[in-house]
Order: sequence, then C-alpha cells, then structure tokens
Amino acid sequence: MGLRNTEQYAEADSGRLEWNGQEKTLWRCIVCNDVHYGSEPPGTCPTCMSTDVYVKSDPQEARQVMLGLDGDVETDEEGLVECWKELAGRNDEFRLNPDTEDVELAARGVHRGEEEHGMKYCPCQMKSGDFVADLGLVCPCNFFIQPSWDEKGECWCKLFVKG
Ligand code: SF4
Ligand SMILES: [Zn+2]
Repeated sequence: MGLRNTEQYAEADSGRLEWNGQEKTLWRCIVCNDVHYGSEPPGTCPTCMSTDVYVKSDPQEARQVMLGLDGDVETDEEGLVECWKELAGRNDEFRLNPDTEDVELAARGVHRGEEEHGMKYCPCQMKSGDFVADLGLVCPCNFFIQPSWDEKGECWCKLFVKG
C-alpha cells in the first residue's frame, strides 16, 4: 500500500482500513481465488471473468491463498455464516440453505478445518495434500461446477442451494 496519503487511512480491526471514511477490506473470488482489496467486491473477477462471486476474506486467508503462509485462525463460526450470507445476498443464482442446521454443520466443519489445517477447507471434500490443488477446496468453493449443483441444486455440503 502506498504511504503518500497515510493521514487519509485510519486503521480499524484486522485487515480493514478506512480510506476517507470508506471501509476497505479483503475479498476472495470463490471461482479462482483472486484476492481483491477494496471497499466493494469487483462485480466481475478480472482473472476468471465470473460475476458476483467475491466473498469477504481476511488477512490470514488472503496471505495463505497468495503466499501459502500459516497464521492464526481469525474467523469464528458466526463470522463465517455472516460472510456466506453476504455473498448469497449479492447473487440471484444461489442462496444460503434455509435449513439452519445444515449451515451450522458446515460452519462447524469449516471452522474446525481451519483450526486443524490453517485453511477454510470444505468439510465434505477430500484434500489431496497438494497446497495449490487444494486451494480449490477453500470454502466457499467454485460449487457451480460440482455434479451435485446440476443434479440436486446444492453444493456438496448443502451450504448453498439454487435460489
Ligand atoms: S461444497 Fe459447499 S461447503 Fe464445501 S467448500 Fe464448496 S461451498 Fe463450501
Ligand atoms: Zn475469479
């Protein structure tokens, strides 16, 4: 980040900075893991050209996605659900499963995975052990390409459903 206008930045909580009154935060494309830092998510991902696919990220996740560095777990289960709701709220093609038990189960699984493996891995898909390949399993993942999305209208873990 350029420091020429340092006085226009005000540090808020981790990874969120204010720029002239606008909160900037980290966003991750769920299709290709492009990371964006700004007050709004890009409408179209400049890397994969998918639309409305950015989810709020955090410094740890962004560092890991970009650099493969470990860090402390930052997002709790409630924070995960909020982040998923926000993503679904911006998209007409899917929504969060209205069955809150399924959502809470996924949040527990993702959170536990992050504590154990340092990444928000999908609780229902097998990791290969290859860091780069497993980036495709960071939740929310590119669930549009899963057979369960076409066949049943839901992601593997029933976290997101067609809406
Ligand atoms: S299948 Fe569903 S729960 Fe699993 S990573 Fe993808 S979006 Fe998340
Ligand atoms: Zn993308």
